[in-house]
Amino acid sequence: MKVLVATEKPFAANAVKAIKEEIEKAGHELVLLEKYTEKAQLLDAVKDVEAMIVRSDNVTPDVMDAATKLKIIVRAGAGYDSIDTAYAKEKGIIVENTPGQNANAVAELVLGLLVYAVRAFFNGKSGSELIGKKLGLLAFGNVGRNVARIAKGFGMEVYAYDAFCPANVIEEAGVHAVANQEALFDQCDIVSLHIPATPETKQSINYALVNRLPKGGILVNTARKEVINEAELLKLMADREDLKFVTDIKPDADADFAKLEGRYFSTPKKMGAQTAEANFNAGLAAAKQINAYFADGCTKFQVNK
Ligand code: NAD
Repeated sequence: MKVLVATEKPFAANAVKAIKEEIEKAGHELVLLEKYTEKAQLLDAVKDVEAMIVRSDNVTPDVMDAATKLKIIVRAGAGYDSIDTAYAKEKGIIVENTPGQNANAVAELVLGLLVYAVRAFFNGKSGSELIGKKLGLLAFGNVGRNVARIAKGFGMEVYAYDAFCPANVIEEAGVHAVANQEALFDQCDIVSLHIPATPETKQSINYALVNRLPKGGILVNTARKEVINEAELLKLMADREDLKFVTDIKPDADADFAKLEGRYFSTPKKMGAQTAEANFNAGLAAAKQINAYFADGCTKFQVNK
């Protein structure tokens, strides 16, 4: 089988080496398309491959139409909103992600953003500490769980709400389960977003919800920009000068948020999963999942069932 690694932003060299070894170990052939700049290059590269590994690359219907032999696409990472999963399903193409492989990287960044925010963005003035603060996790998936683990080390009191994770699982992790997202914003000093971008979650972080935060509240986003209603958040932050917003996903209205001096920070580009470890782990996991699929039909990580 031919396995294509198609990455506009390539994996680290050691990750490519590990992917290649893993794929070849199973008797398959690895084809590399890195740093492509034109869609045409991708359309050409997918023509005769049975499997493909991507990062945040867009896999649109035209790509799948060009890939007449394609059986499986693995997104090396967690969020798979860059892939048209419904169209893949229609065409009988399996789509998988590699959940959890970059979760610690994202979680460490959350705490980094929080330290930066409570220390007044290192502006030379006195800040505050995270110990004793109530941290709310909106979703208790792989990233949320890692944030909980690290935040407890900081002495924070951790709360979580997840629409699909039962309260007892949250409580067993030493985290307070709350009944809904409104309660999370009511009870916590800081809320960190870990929901995927879905039709239900898009634009769901709005004026009314964030306005529930107590005085001095902080919103942290390492999920997706689409979950935030930017116009409403901007309006709220204009109305409430006590709120801060720190994010790993630059909002479309970055320039407007940047006017809120001392209350807003965005990483220059999405950096949550940008660590050597996450890059390597996600790439290797993707290769292993492809081998498992061709070896015995394993589709454990399929996201378009
Ligand atoms: P995950 O799939 O392990 O967890 C997502 C959780 O969200 C699940 O527990 C699910 O039950 C819950 N959920 C789904 N819909 C919900 C809703 N409407 N309300 C409440 N909970 C809901 O994913 P993860 O690895 O924890 O990653 C979370 C998100 O973070 C990803 O979807 C991705 O968009 C984003 N992410 C960003 C980066 C980055 O570089 N900043 C890296 C990895 C992931």
